[in-house]
Amino acid sequence: MYELNHILNNTYYFSGPTKIGLYRLNDTDVCIIDTGIEERVGKRILKTINENGWSLKFIINTHAHADHVGGNAYIQGETGCKIFANTIEACFTEHPFLNSCFVYGAYSPKELRKKFMLAQKSIVTPIADAKLPEGFEIIDLSGHSSQMIGVRTPDDVLFLADSIVSREIIEKYTVTYIFNVEQYIATLERVKKMSARLFVPAHADVCEDISALAEHNIKVTNGIAETILSMCEKPISFENLLKKVFEKYSLRLDHEQYALIGGTVKSYLTYLSDKELLENRFEDGVLLFFKV
Ligand SMILES: [Zn+2]
Repeated sequence: MYELNHILNNTYYFSGPTKIGLYRLNDTDVCIIDTGIEERVGKRILKTINENGWSLKFIINTHAHADHVGGNAYIQGETGCKIFANTIEACFTEHPFLNSCFVYGAYSPKELRKKFMLAQKSIVTPIADAKLPEGFEIIDLSGHSSQMIGVRTPDDVLFLADSIVSREIIEKYTVTYIFNVEQYIATLERVKKMSARLFVPAHADVCEDISALAEHNIKVTNGIAETILSMCEKPISFENLLKKVFEKYSLRLDHEQYALIGGTVKSYLTYLSDKELLENRFEDGVLLFFKV
């Protein structure tokens, strides 16, 4: 776990549940893309960087989810390096409790104040203020989170963060976290047409062609939207709808999943309402959703 793999020319990645990118800026300096889920991962990455005699110049965070920023605090504490991210993501990374409050909708209960929701805080600079070395391209991948970005290295290797997930993850979970379904699908449509020497999704294999996997992700997302719409044939409350979603996709119910999948189902409800396929009304003190 967290072995350094060479991809192409100066571009590398650390393997693991969430891939971490590394780019050699010159013979001695490197930058990394994301830092893994916790301090332990940050230590491992920095150890490898030091063993190679490299110096870490900066970190780019694709978005503020804990499995992408969890090593930030340790690495920044040891090296003093700058961390760059989009402004809203930077805000969540500087104030990690916002992540758990965001998915919960209020100050979160203790069950959500855990590692997966609550990274250690780090200091982040808006990426718009970064003077990145020539050849780097920052790409908008919003949808999975509000301002997620991808990074194209000067080697034309494109890090796609969580804009796309593997067939294995879809097979296992089907429903994965989405903040804004409309943006998520629009981003996938753009990703489908992107070209690069190699693509590195955080949660799928490195590949030369991303179009088939992007199309599969779009199909699955549209399928979930259709399924949720069909569950609203008769007026249904959010809680009863969520119960049906958990049953339909055989999902494990715990506080984290309840918050993350619950938030995702709400995003689908917004998406379907914006498309005027769904309406809602209050009845006997309960908010009900129903197909138009
Ligand atoms: Zn994420």
